[in-house]
Amino acid sequence: MITQQDIAFDQQHIWHPYTSMTRPLPVYPVVRAEGCELELASGERLVDGMSSWWAAIHGYNHPRLNAAMKNQIDQMSHVMFGGITHPSAIALCRKLVAMTPAALECVFLADTGSVAVEVAMKMALQYWHARGEPRQRFLTFRHGYHGDTFGAMSVCDPDNSMHSLWKGYLPENLFAPAPASRFDEEFDERDIAPFARLMAAHRHDIAAVILEPIVQGAGGMRFYHPEWLRRIRKMCDREGILLIADEIATGFGRSGKLFACEHAGITPDILCLGKAITGGTMTLSATLTTRHVANTLSDGAAGCFMHGPTFMGNPLACAVAAESLAILETGAWREQVAAIEKQLNAELAPCRESPQVADVRVLGAIGVVETRAPVDMGRLQKFFVEQGVWIRPFGRLIYLMPPYVIAPEQLSRLTAAVAKAVNDPTLFR
Ligand SMILES: *Cc1c(COP(=O)(O)O)cnc(C)c1O
Repeated sequence: MITQQDIAFDQQHIWHPYTSMTRPLPVYPVVRAEGCELELASGERLVDGMSSWWAAIHGYNHPRLNAAMKNQIDQMSHVMFGGITHPSAIALCRKLVAMTPAALECVFLADTGSVAVEVAMKMALQYWHARGEPRQRFLTFRHGYHGDTFGAMSVCDPDNSMHSLWKGYLPENLFAPAPASRFDEEFDERDIAPFARLMAAHRHDIAAVILEPIVQGAGGMRFYHPEWLRRIRKMCDREGILLIADEIATGFGRSGKLFACEHAGITPDILCLGKAITGGTMTLSATLTTRHVANTLSDGAAGCFMHGPTFMGNPLACAVAAESLAILETGAWREQVAAIEKQLNAELAPCRESPQVADVRVLGAIGVVETRAPVDMGRLQKFFVEQGVWIRPFGRLIYLMPPYVIAPEQLSRLTAAVAKAVNDPTLFR
């Protein structure tokens, strides 16, 4: 049960992501979730178009995931990872090492995506320190998103993440223009020139390039050409600069490949995973590296990698992650994601006719409708709930990334709601 007083308490006392305490946006009370539906306290059921931000890929309340957590609870929910190991961490890391590119052998477990990125950046800094050639800068491109902690924020898009707010405190990194060559169009040679110039000018200062492969997520939902990744991999190899791939959003099948790096056939030196890793049940992330990176930094001045979260390798999270990966290992996701891609392409295409719409793009199980004017978030959210769907737009982006197990009729409800929304000018600012 949830009362009006509960909601009022929430609005007065509880922060939600990116919200204000003086002008909080409305929140919708969810009391249960099952398959691809969220159930509101009112009893209404909403088809989920978000997978709770890329995470709930197998749907909610999944019997296998629930069983994995219940089994683990009866053994132990948590135990420290310093000086101790346990079967669930080993099972999970075996799977991660097996399913990621062969060169990625060493796994660091942490608790959120942002921390996986901090860990990756610290690894790169320690790597160069250990080589007796300390380096302090990262090269990335605009429109990126890597998390909300300070290191991660320092490589997020400088405008979206308001670098001006943190000036003097935030490390200053190097930003190339975001890739313009789209995933499904010709690669334009000129696109990469500014990036190459930046790398050449700072080749002795750059510890690593950090990027989201193929899909720039929260920084704009843009899909760029795989040739970009092949070129960057070559440039990094030539200069000995490390390449960090942040696959926290794209990992585990979302883009149509198990990992988005596969679109370009490249292996990063450091890989960050999170979000879907536990099938959307528990918070967990992983940073994988090559043996070379791991050994080099381990033999440096510190004599170890300088990081160790309290809840590192949490057994409950590891157990459910291992089960989520076991579900992926059946391979069913390939056909599910391909079918979603086909249906999104067909059913979102008519949105292009709307004068509110600037672009429609689809990749794997991600469908994006970019509008000309920013959405009126409060009104559009209400509109979608009235249509019986859960879709959370931001800025000029209305996007769908449903659980892989969504039924065609459910997906049609999502696309129909989007099509209806973009034909209603009152929902835009
Ligand atoms: C969500 C996200 C993160 C941050 O993950 P959190 O778990 O929210 O800290 C980092 N990188 C990418 C690409 C993401 O999509």
